Amino acid sequence: MARSLSGTTRLSGVIGSPVRHSLSPTLHNAAFQACGIDWVYLAFEVADGDAAAALTGMRALGIAGLNVTMPHKTAVARAVDVLTPTARLLDAVNCVVPGDDARLVGHNTDGDGFVASLVVDHDIETTGLRVVVLGAGGAARSVVHALAEAGAADVAVVNRSPARAAMAARLAGHVGRLGDESDLRRADLVVNATPVGMGDSGLLPMDIGLIRPDMVVADLVYQPLETPLLVAARAAGAVVVDGLGMLTHQAALAFSLWTHTPAPLAAMAAAVRTQLLSPPSHYDPPDASLPDRG
Ligand code: NAP
Repeated sequence: MARSLSGTTRLSGVIGSPVRHSLSPTLHNAAFQACGIDWVYLAFEVADGDAAAALTGMRALGIAGLNVTMPHKTAVARAVDVLTPTARLLDAVNCVVPGDDARLVGHNTDGDGFVASLVVDHDIETTGLRVVVLGAGGAARSVVHALAEAGAADVAVVNRSPARAAMAARLAGHVGRLGDESDLRRADLVVNATPVGMGDSGLLPMDIGLIRPDMVVADLVYQPLETPLLVAARAAGAVVVDGLGMLTHQAALAFSLWTHTPAPLAAMAAAVRTQLLSPPSHYDPPDASLPDRG
C-alpha cells in the first residue's frame, strides 16, 4: 500500500480468532485511501476470553474504531459501556465506536449490511417479502432481525436444530416463525446463513429443485464467491446475491460511524473482490472448515 503513516495517523482494526484471513483490512484501508482519511486498519489476533482486555487496550491506546468477529461478539456486547437496541437484542457487537464522552458504544451492522446489499446493490424492495433463512447462528440472527425491521411480511427460519431456529425467529417479532423446507415453495427470498457450500465442499444447503426464476437467492458464504447454491440459482434464472455485498455494506456502515463520512462503496467493493479473486502470494488461505466471518 503506497501511503505514508505519521504521528497523526489514527488506528482502527478488527479483533478475532482466527483473524489473519480477514478481508476487513482490505475493505477499510481501501476506504481510507479513497477518502484521503489518515487512518490505518489492522487485524488483531485476540484469544478467546481476552475481548474485555482488548477493549481496555482500545481505551488506553485511543483506537478510533474497532470491528469484532468470532469468537468475541457476545463478550464485547457485555464489555462496552452502551449498546444500540439492535446490538442489545442480538447480544452481539461487530463494531465499537468511541463516543465523545470516551464511552465505548457497541453496534451491530451485520443485518443492516445485508439489507443494504439487497436494496443498494440489487434494487430489491424488502417490504412484504416472504423470506426463508437457512441457519440460526449469529449471521442468521442478524439477518432475521434486520429483514423484519425492513418490512418483510414473513420470516421463516429453517435450521437443523429447530430449537435454535425458534429462538432466532423470535428476533423477527410477529412476522418470525419456525419454518421447514416446504416454506421454500412460497418464498420470495432465500438466505443461506449456514456455512454449507464453503471452500470446495460442493455442498448445497437446500433442494435446488425448489428454486424458481422469480426468487432471490442470497448466500452469506463468500469463499467461494459463486457457491454451489448460487451456481444452481443462476442456472434456474433466479436473482443471485453473493456474500460480499453483506461484508462490504456492514463495513461501510462501520466506516461511516467512525469517520462521519459517506463510505466509498465502489472502492471498497473493488478492493475486496480483487483480494478475494487473486490473493497475494503471502496470503494464507483459511482452513475451509472454519466459517469465515470477515
Ligand atoms: P454460526 O453462528 O456457527 O451458525 C452456523 C449455523 O449454520 C447454525 O445454525 C448451524 O446449525 C448451521 N450449520 C452449520 N453447519 C451445518 C451443516 N453442515 N448443515 C446444516 N446446517 C449447518 O455461524 P455464523 O457466524 O452464523 O456464520 C454462518 C455463515 O455465514 C458462515 O459461512 C460465515 O462465513 C457466513 N457469514 C458471512 C457474513 C458476510 O458478511 N457475508 C457475515 C457473517 C457470517 P446448528 O444451529 O444446528 O448448529
